[in-house]
Amino acid sequence: MKSHRITLLGSQDRILQDWLCSHPESHERGAIVLFRRLARIVNDQEISDRFLAVDVIKMTGDWVIQSSEAHLQINMRKMTQVYFRCENEGLELGFAHSHPVRYLSFSLTDEANEQNILKGISGCNGKNLFLVAMLLCDGRWSARIRWGIDPEIVLPVRHICVVSERIKLHGITAPEESTETLKRQEAAFGKPFNTMLQSRNCFEYLPASVSPSLFQYLYFNSLLPRYFSANSYFRLSFL
Ligand SMILES: [Zn+2]
Repeated sequence: MKSHRITLLGSQDRILQDWLCSHPESHERGAIVLFRRLARIVNDQEISDRFLAVDVIKMTGDWVIQSSEAHLQINMRKMTQVYFRCENEGLELGFAHSHPVRYLSFSLTDEANEQNILKGISGCNGKNLFLVAMLLCDGRWSARIRWGIDPEIVLPVRHICVVSERIKLHGITAPEESTETLKRQEAAFGKPFNTMLQSRNCFEYLPASVSPSLFQYLYFNSLLPRYFSANSYFRLSFL
């Protein structure tokens, strides 16, 4: 199944993390994230849409009907203005929320909420649209995507990339790797690199510290934003 990619600017990540994690009584919080979807076909690469965050709307005040440490009930009536904006500006809807009690996975309630939101926006804007669901727990993002045509199917997310002076990748699943592969990686990139990859739900690195061989490894394992060519990527290191 094809997997998609999500990109946030560092500033958007900070706004979201600050908002979602700062309830005075540690309740769950939510935010709308609006995305531009780029669905370009690249030669010799499997199809993977990129969802670029373009705006963040904090769910403040009457957006929230009820909340606690373990639940969040939002006011769906307010969603209509967001549906209108998505339709008008050709954006995809995202819903981000926090799990302050450190439940790392999406819950069954999240499942029902995502389907309700998707049903709501599909009723207004048609079914050929996506819902990006993002979960923040313990400072780390995980995400999944649903398509209005087939709302019960969860489309996997390859990674959530946060781009600032560092590049941070969340939600990466480590592939099954043989000991031989791990040894080769360790010889090429050193032990810390393997440790990082094996513990990776999230890791970050400074572009300036990426050697050409490491860049190649990351690039061909789809661990880098695909729109960075090698040249533009290294230019980034001088910013
Ligand atoms: Zn949840």
